[in-house]
Parts: sequence; C-alpha cells; structure tokens
Amino acid sequence: MNIRRLARATVVVGVGVLLSGSALWGQTVITPPNNNYTPAQDVELGRQAAAEVEQQLPMLRDEAVTSFVASMGTRLVQSIPEELRHSEFQYAFQVVNVREINAFALPGGPMYLNRGMIAAAHSQGEVAGVMAHELSHVALRHGTAQATKATKYEIGTLLGAVVGSIIGGNVGSAVAQGTQFGLGTAFLRFSREFEREADLLGSHIMAAAGYDPREMASMFHTIQKQAGSGGPQWLSSHPDPGDRSASITREAQLLTVRNPVRDNGAFTKTLERLREMAAAPTTEEATRKVAGRGTVPVAEGRLDPDRVAPPSSRYTAYTEGDVFRVSVPANWRELPGNNAVLFAPDGAYGTAGEQGVFTHGIEIGVVRNETHDLRTAIDEFVDSLSRSNPTLGHPSRYSRVKMGGRQGLHATLANRSSATSQDERIALSAILLDDGNLLYALGVAPRESFSEYQGTFRKVIGSIALGR
Ligand SMILES: [Zn+2]
Repeated sequence: MNIRRLARATVVVGVGVLLSGSALWGQTVITPPNNNYTPAQDVELGRQAAAEVEQQLPMLRDEAVTSFVASMGTRLVQSIPEELRHSEFQYAFQVVNVREINAFALPGGPMYLNRGMIAAAHSQGEVAGVMAHELSHVALRHGTAQATKATKYEIGTLLGAVVGSIIGGNVGSAVAQGTQFGLGTAFLRFSREFEREADLLGSHIMAAAGYDPREMASMFHTIQKQAGSGGPQWLSSHPDPGDRSASITREAQLLTVRNPVRDNGAFTKTLERLREMAAAPTTEEATRKVAGRGTVPVAEGRLDPDRVAPPSSRYTAYTEGDVFRVSVPANWRELPGNNAVLFAPDGAYGTAGEQGVFTHGIEIGVVRNETHDLRTAIDEFVDSLSRSNPTLGHPSRYSRVKMGGRQGLHATLANRSSATSQDERIALSAILLDDGNLLYALGVAPRESFSEYQGTFRKVIGSIALGR
C-alpha cells in the first residue's frame, strides 16, 4: 500500500470551564485558564503548525489584500490588554486563497483568514470581529490550555505530530503539539467556556481598537447563514456558548468604543480586488493539488517483507489524550504522521522509489469529508487512494462494522504492492465523526497471509475508542 497524503484531521476534545467572575461594574474580567505549557512552547508549536499550514494551503500572495488584513490585525493586537500580552508572541496575518468562510489562529500568533471569510463579510468591523475572536484564543492560550487538559489522562505514546488548526470551511480543527514535547497531536475544538471567553475578550479588544463589538455577533450570523455551504464547520470548532449574540451585545453596552473606525474604504477596495481575481478554489480542490507528500514517516524503515514477524498476540495500547485509543500487536511500531498513524512491524515499511510504502500493518487516520454521507465519503476516499495506488480495486460490497462505538462500513480491496509486485489485500473500515469527517483504518497484508491478519485487524479496529 502506498502512503498518500491526507487531509487534516479532527477529533473532538471536550473540556473545561474557567471564566472568572464578572465584575459588577464594567466589563467582564477574564482570566486565562490553567496551562502547563510556557508561552515559548506556544510559539514553537504555532511555528511548526504554521509551516505545515503554509505547505498545505495556498496563501494569497497579494500585497494589497494581505496588508489590509495585517494592518487591521496590528491595530487589534495593540488593543490586547496588558496582562494578556506575551513578549514572545509574534502575531502575523495571512490570507488563504480558498473559498470557504473560515479563519484560524495558531498558538503564539500566526493567524490565517480565508479569502471566503473576507468576501462574505459585510463590513470591515465584521472581519475585525472574527480576527478579534481568534486573537483572543491566542492571547488566552486556549490551544495549549486545551492540550493541558487533554493530556492529563495520557498513557504512553500519542498519535500524530503537528497539525494546523483549520477551523471553518471543511477542514477539521486542530491545534497541535510537537512530538518533541512528547505529546503528539491533540485535535482540538474549543470548549464553550473558551468560546465565551474569546467572545468577551474579543469584544474588549474590538472596542479598544475602535470597532463596535456587535459587529462580531453580526459576523457570526453571517457565518451561520452560510450553513450548508461551508459555514457550519467554523461553528463546530467555535461552538455557540449559548446566547452568543445577546452576551456580546450585553458586553458591548459595558464598553466604550475608542476612536471609532468609520472608514470602510479599505474594506471596499479589498472586496473589489478580490472580485477581480480568479475565483478561489475550495479547500479540497486546493489541497488536492499539492497531494503526494506522505504524512507517515515510513522513510526511516527498511522494507524486507520476507522477514516480517507475525503479529504478536500481546497488545500495546496507544492513546491520544482522552480522545483516541487503540491497541495493536506489541511488535508493531507506531509511526505517527500528521493526520494518520501507521502501526507496522519491522521490515514492513519503508520507501519504494519515491513513495512511502507498507506491506503489513494498519494505518488509522482522518480525512476531510464534505459529503456527510458515509458511503459516498468512503467511495471518495478509495478514489483518493487510487491516485497513489493505481492498481487498487474498488470494493464490490460493503459490510457493517463497529468502530469507536459507531456504526461504520467495511470492505476488502485488492491491490498489487508496489514494493513487492505481489498481490495484497486491504481491509478498509470507516466511520463518520461528529464533525462529518471520515475516520478510517486500512489493514494491509499480502494476499497469501491476509486471512491470518484479518483477525488482528478486527481486534485492532474493535479496540478503537473515541473520546467525546
Ligand atoms: Zn472560538
């Protein structure tokens, strides 16, 4: 099985509270949540995730548009309250040339606004609203605060490396930690408490920067109206803490907008400029174009399929915070990638030609899904596998399977291994996650030993447990 590049992953992390008591007079006081990381680690994580994001997503290299966003961003950053400033943080602003309404910010400062987000906004204040909300997550260090909670229950090695946090659009959310911290990836979705904090702090920042905080609420309406055309994901990564508009409006009444920004000219010009450009692709179209980079570091292995030991009857459990758990034969190694993890024995993985390959083992990962229908999502996934595995057969029938406590589909596919030129069989199982993305498992073994591996694959799949 050739390893192909995958879309970004998303698994849900539930979590915590921590909005401090509100002041009786004046604006709500917000205290950052508990965090085991240092601000310097936020910066490092964000830097790694940003490198990944910029490799995977098309940045809009347009001076005028980028400087419009950057100048607004700088204005907002200067309005972050003193006590939430971190001298290490380096705020930076980029526009992603994709169509979906989306924006996300990484720990330590890098922020990305989709072109679709700017195009959907009705005013400069609406754009500022989303940016202020994102900035607040960064200033309050919500990504690592969430990770702090997620890893509290950690046992053993974790899945994954660095994944950018792509919220909204169609890509799942995920701020991540680098493996050098011994953590792997935690796939994040902000908790309602963190959302409430970001809404409130965002309001404060907006008012201080000269924007009416109610424009943030109105941007959320704009996003909501796009539900069904790429909008809802932003809301699933940034869930409504309840009465969102009302609380923002209430908070706005406690705030004074300083030196209001009245000129909408730069915004109008930016919109005109965007309209002159070729239409933005969808995130899926854009990421498909850069397909072909493996995510699992199989290159460090040496392929020697004849010397692959049979699966051990002893199993080892791997967990990803409290969101993901799987048990695999103890003689299989964990090879974490960005959106997938491969478990394989020595000799069963490596590179053949330019491509990452594995001959025995199981890969588990998440792919973006836009169809929200399991059967169609699997068919599309098999199509994407075929691009790097031209000899891959399509499944003739599916059976039902349980994975992570959910009902999914299973099929066996035939392929010819590019590593051995021998026939192999692939056991594919998949389920839909809450956000609609596809969680899959691909068990691979040579045709002649497939029946011996089937029981192992079944056991591994049966052991998968998902957090909330
Ligand atoms: Zn949020």
